[in-house]
Amino acid sequence: MVLKFTGSFTQQEAIPEKAIDAAIAVMRHGRLHRYNVAPGETSETVLLEQEFANLTGARYCLAVASGGYALTAALRASGLKQNDIVLTNAFTLAPVPGAIQGAGGCPVFVEITKDLVLDLDDLKAKIESTNAKFLMLSHMRGHIVDMEALLKITDEAGIKVIEDCAHTMGANWNGITSGRSGIVGCYSTQTFKHINSGEGGFLITDDVEIMAKATMLSGSYMLYESHLAGAPIEAFENIRLDTPNCSGRMDNLRAAILRPQLENLSIQANRWNKRYRKLENGLNQVEDIRLISRPKKEYFVASSFQFCLPDFNEKQIKSLVLACEIRGVQLKWFGASSPVGFTSRHDSWRYVDKQTLPKTDAILSVLLDMRIPLTFSMQDCDIISEIIKEEVKNIKLN
Ligand SMILES: *Cc1c(COP(=O)(O)O)cnc(C)c1O
Repeated sequence: MVLKFTGSFTQQEAIPEKAIDAAIAVMRHGRLHRYNVAPGETSETVLLEQEFANLTGARYCLAVASGGYALTAALRASGLKQNDIVLTNAFTLAPVPGAIQGAGGCPVFVEITKDLVLDLDDLKAKIESTNAKFLMLSHMRGHIVDMEALLKITDEAGIKVIEDCAHTMGANWNGITSGRSGIVGCYSTQTFKHINSGEGGFLITDDVEIMAKATMLSGSYMLYESHLAGAPIEAFENIRLDTPNCSGRMDNLRAAILRPQLENLSIQANRWNKRYRKLENGLNQVEDIRLISRPKKEYFVASSFQFCLPDFNEKQIKSLVLACEIRGVQLKWFGASSPVGFTSRHDSWRYVDKQTLPKTDAILSVLLDMRIPLTFSMQDCDIISEIIKEEVKNIKLN
């Protein structure tokens, strides 16, 4: 009998009971808008911001409507002007180039290495050739580049780094929280990230002017005084009438759902990583499979798993994806000529000028990706790696 997997790769855990109770309380009182509070009340959104600032060690935190919104607001508040170039990873998710475009910038893609992080040699070359002053660093799929080496390059070139931490909430590089090395760190609380409110995001910074501008951008009207992790009132004096309102606030219902999840983040991180290591062990030493090496300085939160099949051709990879699918294992391939689901890549973003990225293309053509929802047990991870192992072998034999 062939082994089959029956779990769902898109099924996250339920929202914790404590969060459900908090959400019901918000619905009962009806004050869902973050600035709608009873006398003496501090809104759930304000408390969430304070808690996220404490967790990351940032001076300021703004909760917003999505991770993509946080990225756009970060660029605008950092002084990006129309048609400024923004360097970013050639392997990232569509909201990243979308945010750059939305903020009026022009994305220029930087190659990635075989370990799926930014290629620092290409970064240097692109800084030289474009004279860019912004880098949107995407920690795509939770892989963190050597941050010391990166910052040396960007500091020397006077580049503002904005970190896309959609996959690194709770992660760190050499003890420094992901999102705290750049001038702004942006996070997502969309269902498939590390805490789940359906949609949502955060922006953190130590820069008072960026925080004040981002707050005005998010649509604070003149109610920013109520923030507990916000910029001081004086910071708004010069900018409050010059910064447009591009509404993108977080609301109290989402904040109520997120606060208890944030308390559990490190526990959840350990559970994700246990599953990741289990899959890694299962696929380690399998002929034809190359695993992604993880540096010692990187503390990751592995909500997904990637591996490469360097010697497989397109036909073999397609057969593998199909064979695994039949047995219940959903692998996503970033090499398909037309994007399926979330697997779009630089050449699918046709609003961006066409760019040549041979190194990234070669890596993506053999890269497979899967989600690891926490609804998977350790035994599920064994079944999944066994199925992949068998199918890789089968395809090699045929
Ligand atoms: C999810 C994600 C974002 C932000 O997405 P939203 O859906 O706008 O919250 C940004 N970057 C990456 C790499 C992502 O995966």
